[in-house]
Order: sequence, then structure tokens, then C-alpha cells
Amino acid sequence: MRYVSTRGKAPVLSFEEAMLTGLARDGGLYVPETIPTLSADQIAALAGQSYEEVAFTIMRPFIGDAFTDEEFRAIIARAYEGFGHAARAPLVQLGANHFLLELFHGPTLAFKDFAMQLIGQLFQAALERSGDRVTIVGATSGDTGSAAIEAFRGLDNVDVFILFPHGRVSEVQRRQMTTPIESNVHALAVDGDFDDCQAAVKDMFNDFDFRDSVGLAGVNSINWARVLAQVVYYFTSAVSLGAPHRKVSFTVPTGNFGDIFAGYIARRMGLPIDQLVVATNQNDILHRALSTGGYVKDGVTPSISPSMDIQVSSNFERALFDVYDRDGNAVAQLMEELKSQGGFQISQGAMQKLGETFASGRASEEETTATIRATFATTGEVLCPHSAVGVKVAEEQISGATPMITLATAHPAKFPDAVEAATGERPPLPKRMADLYERSERLSRVANDLSAIEALIKERRSV
Ligand SMILES: *Cc1c(COP(=O)(O)O)cnc(C)c1O
Repeated sequence: MRYVSTRGKAPVLSFEEAMLTGLARDGGLYVPETIPTLSADQIAALAGQSYEEVAFTIMRPFIGDAFTDEEFRAIIARAYEGFGHAARAPLVQLGANHFLLELFHGPTLAFKDFAMQLIGQLFQAALERSGDRVTIVGATSGDTGSAAIEAFRGLDNVDVFILFPHGRVSEVQRRQMTTPIESNVHALAVDGDFDDCQAAVKDMFNDFDFRDSVGLAGVNSINWARVLAQVVYYFTSAVSLGAPHRKVSFTVPTGNFGDIFAGYIARRMGLPIDQLVVATNQNDILHRALSTGGYVKDGVTPSISPSMDIQVSSNFERALFDVYDRDGNAVAQLMEELKSQGGFQISQGAMQKLGETFASGRASEEETTATIRATFATTGEVLCPHSAVGVKVAEEQISGATPMITLATAHPAKFPDAVEAATGERPPLPKRMADLYERSERLSRVANDLSAIEALIKERRSV
């Protein structure tokens, strides 16, 4: 299996190379050259299998000869053994035709653990073999950073630096990043917003001297291996509800478009998904783009669902690449317009193709709070604000007999203030992390300035 860049001008790579590289050298994102498909019989055969078994079947064709079957099975087993639920991604019912996929039973209580725990084990196995060292740098609006730190803490050949917007992540998110004691973990509080952090990481990847001198590797949601890991739970949940014999739809609380793009890959692989619904908060560039064709930046307004507070949505580029018939030059031109003019218009043909798969909706702050309250009252299920955005948008989209699965992307205890404001009850942390508020913190505050950040990374990494 070979991987090509969405901008068409970077070297073609293997799975392992694409995973270790992250962002392509032409500024694009790596995607598989072809998408393997499963027959209806092969999908039906997944029924009743463990999460790990399904993960092996779904991901195996994408990894080429990077690992033997035996190695890959062991990597998957280690990735998910720290989860707090035997089913890994259990489904619960919210209404007649509405189901919630709980993706928050991993070590940092957000769906990002599904990808990050796997990628930690994949990196470890690849670097052990080559003897190389890498410096992982990532930007986070909260959940990615804690998931990355949890996945890489204490691993031998890796330093991990996470840039987060100072003062703009929840206390639980911050503490998950600042309390690990391992010396290869570095939490950097940047004086800026999430887009500033993300831009700094992009600039570091485009600074080839720096990139090569520290062995930069990226694990942000643009890393293909992360998207791949997330494809698995679309299969496990759809099959539990009767796929491939009946269609299902999904609603996905969306920020960088990584999670929902995994659903798009599942659909391309043959899973009978009717609609993939993009749910945004008030930072709704994707909802506006999918409903009007104009992908236009509009600043970021902080919300109670901070992990979806984005101005531009990096993984959307992968969807554009497909609906522009895999024309890297066309995608490069759109991204150039985004940079120089702050936006671009999606062509009619591309909009039509997007509309065959995607629908969208947005939830305001008031609607999000009202949904947390109403869902608690009618089902007893406590939603985090991100999941509530999904549930609100899903309720508008449910139609006919097709079951709707909404992805619950974080545990409510990660966002206790917003949840308490809605339900009157403060959601407790699961027992295994109940002492988080007592652990001591360690972080470095840094200016929103590329050379200052690069200097800090060079100084702190262990050589
Ligand atoms: C990251 C995140 C999202 C958004 O996921 P994308 O893959 O960036 O679209 C939604 N909810 C939570 C809780 C998250 O951590």
C-alpha cells in the first residue's frame, strides 16, 4: 500500500514512512493511493468479534508489509488494554432510532485515545527496529495533547512536545498534560489560540533544517495512522446494528474533520453508511461550507465544546482531494487561496459529490446546554458538550428507519463546569484517575513566536 500527498508534489511513501512523517513536504496530507474494499460477506463476518479482532481485519490491508500479522496483533492488543470498558466502544440507546457510541473509555477519556494509543505502539515498534529517535510535536485544543502524552510517556526513542493555548483548555485537560512525571514529556503553554499553536506546528514542519535536525514527527489528526485507527469503530457499531444487511447513519461532533473522515473511509471500504452528518458548534466553517459551497475563515469564538473550536479544518483537505478527482494541483490552488484570501469557493461538481455523503448542522451554546439537560432528563445519559452538539444535530437529521449513531467523543467529567451548569450535578472522574486534582503540575510558558518555540524544543529534547 502506497501513500500519496493531497497536493501531488511530495514523495510517495509506505505506511510506516507516512506515519512517521505526518505532514507531507509539499504541505499536503498523505492518503492511500487506493482504498481496499470488503464484500458484504466479509463485513457480516465481523459480527460478534472483539474490538481487537475487527481492528486487525480493517486496518491490515492499509499497513502493507510494515509489520507481520503477529506483530500487528500484539500492537493492537497493547493499544487497547488500558481501556476501562471491555467492549472498548460500547453502544447505548438514546431513543427509538438513535444510538450513542461511547468513545470515552480510554485513558484520557476522549475518543482520541483510540488513535493515539495505537500510534504510540506503532511508533515504538518501528523505532525499536530502526534505532532512530524522533521528536513529536503536536498542537492541541485539549484532547489531542493529553492523548498523545498518555500514549508516548516513558517510551524510549521519543520526546513529545505539546503546544496548547494558554488558559483555553479545561483544567482536567491541562492536568492530564502537565502531571505525567516522565522526562520525555513536555507541555508548552503558548500565548495564543489553538490556530496559533497549529500554525506554529505547521511552520516547524516547513522549516526543513529544524525538521531534520530534531527528527520531527507529527501525530496531529492529519497523521494518516490516526484516521485509520478511527475507521474501526464505524464498523463495530454499524455491524452491531445490523450492517451490512441494513444501512446506518452517523453524526460526528467535528473540528478538524479527522473523525468523520474515518467514517468516509469506512463508507468507501464498503460499509453501508447512508449519511455522515457533520455537527459543528458556533465555529461552523464546515457547516457553512457544506451548505453554501463557501469555505471562508471567520475567526474563533471560544465555546463550551473547546475541542471543536477551530477556524480551519485540516482534514477537510482529504475529502476535497477525492471530490476534485484526486487532482493535487487543484487542491494546492484552493489551499493557496485560503492562505492569501482567507477562503475559497468549492466547485459545483465537488459540492454535488460531497452532498452524496455528507450532511451538516450546527448547535449554538444554548442548544448544547439544553441538549445536555434534556438527554439527562429523558435517558439518564450524561453528555459532554461535544457529544451534545452531535446529539442535537442528529435529532434534526434522523429520518425513516435508518438508525442514527451519534459519536460521544469525550467523557462528561472532562468538562464538569458545562455539564453541571446544564444538569445541576457535577460529573465525577472515573475511579482510576480520581486523584488528578492533587498531582503536581509541570509546564513551560512560551511566547507565540516560532523561533522561541523551536529554541525551547532544541534545548529540552533528550539527545
Ligand atoms: C478532537 C475532538 C473533536 C473533533 O474531532 P475531529 O477529528 O478534530 O473532527 C470532537 N470532540 C472531542 C471531545 C474532541 O476531543
